[in-house]
Amino acid sequence: MTVTYPIRIIGDPILRQRASEITDITPALVKLADDMLTTMYEAPGVGLAAPQIGVDRRIFVYDIGDGPGVIINPVIAETSGEWVYKEGCLSIPDMAWDLVRPKEVHLLGKDLNGNDVDIEADELLARCFQHEVDHLDGVLVVERLNADQRKEAMKIIRQRDMALLKG
Ligand code: ZN
Repeated sequence: MTVTYPIRIIGDPILRQRASEITDITPALVKLADDMLTTMYEAPGVGLAAPQIGVDRRIFVYDIGDGPGVIINPVIAETSGEWVYKEGCLSIPDMAWDLVRPKEVHLLGKDLNGNDVDIEADELLARCFQHEVDHLDGVLVVERLNADQRKEAMKIIRQRDMALLKG
């Protein structure tokens, strides 16, 4: 049976840790990937990394509209160009920022069958890969903002935290 997980929100320490390498592809890992996809579709989002559901493993799932994908131990081997896109994060709800990142990336990793993955991604797919690999390195999108964007974002996030404390 498929399970959905609550998504961890900024402030949760697991979002700031480098996730651990995956050494074995077990049935439990295959099940985790399936549950991550269900969680991502329900959110809804176009990508989800394991730390976002509290799991310390280097795996992410994605679907930018071309069908689901799962990448294990991803590495961005090369990047090129620049592209501006309004980027948000399921772990920082209801916020998004115009952000410049490389337009193309070359992603390496493994799939759930243990086969090598080698993808030349562009634009939205490239953006998704960069965002998810950042999650596996403990980096949130707020760290990619310029100083002004970041100041404003942290102010709003702090105000929300205070509102939560008040109930
Ligand atoms: Zn995110």
